[in-house]
This record gives sequence, structure tokens and C-alpha cells, in this order.
Amino acid sequence: MRPAIEKILQKDELSRDDLITLLDITDPAEEAALFKRAYAIKQREVGTKVYFRGLVELSNLCIKNCFYCGIRRGNTAVTRYTMSEDEVVEAVRFAHAARYGSVVIQSGERQDEEFVCFIERLVTRIKEVSNNELGITLSLGEQSEATYRRWYVAGAHRYLLRIETSNAALYKTLHPDDHDFEARLEALRTLYRLGYQVGTGVMIGLPGQTTADLADDVAFFKKMDVAMIGMGPFIPHHDTPLAASIPDWQEHKEQQLRRALRMIAVVRIHLKDVNIASTTALQAIDETGREMGLLAGANIIMPNLTDTSYRTGYQLYDDKPCMDENATMCSACLERRITDIGETVGYGQWGDSPHFKSAKKSNNGEK
Ligand code: SAH
Ligand code: SF4
Repeated sequence: MRPAIEKILQKDELSRDDLITLLDITDPAEEAALFKRAYAIKQREVGTKVYFRGLVELSNLCIKNCFYCGIRRGNTAVTRYTMSEDEVVEAVRFAHAARYGSVVIQSGERQDEEFVCFIERLVTRIKEVSNNELGITLSLGEQSEATYRRWYVAGAHRYLLRIETSNAALYKTLHPDDHDFEARLEALRTLYRLGYQVGTGVMIGLPGQTTADLADDVAFFKKMDVAMIGMGPFIPHHDTPLAASIPDWQEHKEQQLRRALRMIAVVRIHLKDVNIASTTALQAIDETGREMGLLAGANIIMPNLTDTSYRTGYQLYDDKPCMDENATMCSACLERRITDIGETVGYGQWGDSPHFKSAKKSNNGEK
């Protein structure tokens, strides 16, 4: 191992150059040392309990047209669906019975009043059917302050909104002209101000993205004082404008996975006490990708609760795993994967990040 890397891994505070050096590692021994350091910080700061967030992929209707995403408005090959209220409640009951601490409602973006009311009703019902026990995270894109407030009042307390990249110029190349980086940033600030536990993140390995961009993303997360991070490798989808952006995907996907794992490790080392998700996109590249994510410093997993009949409709990227597994199978398989690496599942707990608790001096996170 290069002495320079050894030195950086002993530091408590990392500079921008340090972040870049760590993200650029290619040597397997150095990479192993990076993951080891991140894992030690994870053990110290958040422990080795993995928290489950049951994921409901509510709808693939979307008003946006992001160039990377398989369910973008412009993709006419997709059959659109929206789950019914009862279907969502059924999935939520499963999560509650299985003692997941919380659920995530994710969907393509819609801002119409009918949708806003639908979500408001859903949040209220989830609270009811779970005796107020299930935590509720929303991941429903950019909304007005009034909408975010209505959903918060109804009982949602966490919100995931990825900035996708903190480089405004790069953001522009990944979205049509009517998508606005500043608006997304402002939405994050609004969520924070309203009292949500805010999660953000980026796609890793985007076309045109440099290592310096990724280092700036890590600094951005810290500056925004977020409680949760959800990041994953960019994976091309065949029916999108970025389909051919990584030629020879099969040859490059291993690199793409390793870069994403290094990013998780670096975020753990730099931000220390936040929750970091080991996302499904990691598993789309390697069967054991999510375990690798946990070993690189992540501590959250989002088991899919979506009914199998809808899963094929929610393909943001190609090769999405577990398309034919129902929620029970997902849950059993995940628990085995977690115990296999010597960690445990934090059943029945919200599992708020220590960062959120210390930042807000809040005591509403634990039941
Ligand atoms: N519509 C909401 C939530 C659903 S999309 C929103 O955009 O916030 C959730 C995430 O999927 C996006 O934030 C994006 O980071 C990720 N995603 C979309 N297409 C992807 C791709 N091709 N590869 C990897 N991640 C992708
Ligand atoms: Fe819609 Fe989200 Fe996909 Fe963009 S990333 S097209 S907002 S679902």
C-alpha cells in the first residue's frame, strides 16, 4: 500500500484532495484497507445493526423526463401503473407484521392535487394500520412547500430526494431544459426547514462525471447536514437517451460497482454518523452487491414490498434484481445475507441516524 494512502486513512478530517485520492484507488489491497477503515467507523458510529425500510414502488407515472431513467415520461415502451390504496396498505401490513421499522413510498413524480391527496390519505392510513409504529419515508420528487408540509402533517417524517449530482453543469447534461438544478436544491432546503429527516444522494459513474465531482458530492452532503444518504451506480437503461453512454457495459460494470463501493466508504469516513443505504442498484451488478455495500460502510437496506406483478413496470435501469421474488422471499433472503456477514437486523426500530438525533436533539425516532 502507498504510504500516502496509509496516512490519509489515519486522518480524522479529509481534505478535497484526500477524498479524490481515496475515490481514485484501484489497487485491491488499498481498496480493502479503505473498506476496513470505513467499516471500523461504521461500527463505532452506528453499529452493525442493519435497518430495513420496506420499499413500495407506488407508481411509474412520471411528469419528468430525466435522460437516465427507464420510467421517464418519454419512454412509450413502458406500461404505466399505479397501485391502489388497498394494495399499498396490504404491503404495509406485511412490513409491520415482519417488524420492519419503516416503509418508503417511492414513485415517479406527479404534482397534481389528486396525487397530493392520495399520498396524504395513504400516509394517514399507514399510521392507522400500524398503530403509529411504522416510520414513513417519502421519495416522490420535487413538490411545493405546501405539499411537503401537508404530507409532513399527515405523518411522513423522512424524505429522500437525490440531488443526482452536485455539479450544476453536469446536472444540465442529464436533464431536459425544463428540469432545474436550483429548484431541486431549494426543495432539499425546504424539506430540511420543515423538519423532515432529509436524505439525498447521487448516481455514481455518470457519463461526464469526474472523481472531483464525486468528491464535491461528498462535501455537498456534509454541507447540507443530511441525515441519510442513498447512492448507487448509474446503470444504463436500454430505452433511454443514455442507453449507449457506457459502451461495453459488461466489461465496465465491475468498475462501476467498485467505484460505487468506494464512494460509500468515503462517505462513511467523511460524514461518520449518517445512515447510508446499500441500494438495489449495487445488486443489479453483482448478486452480492448489497452485502458488499454493508461491508464498505452502509447500514440500511430497502427490501422490496412491491407486488411482483408491478415490479417489471418499475425498471429505472436494466438488470434490476429480484423481479420474480415476492416480499416474503425478499425478506428471508436478506436476513440470511445479513447474518452471513456477521451483522444483525434491527427489527421493530425506526433506526434514525445518530446524526439526526444529535443535530435535532429529537427523541421522536425511537419507539
Ligand atoms: N421520481 C423520484 C423518485 C424515483 S427515482 C425522484 O426522481 O426523486 C429514484 C432514483 O432512481 C433517482 O433519484 C435516481 O438517482 C435513480 N435512478 C434513475 N435512473 C437510474 C439509472 N439509470 N441508474 C441508476 N439509478 C437511477
Ligand atoms: Fe421520473 Fe424520478 Fe425517473 Fe426522473 S428519476 S424520470 S423524476 S422517476
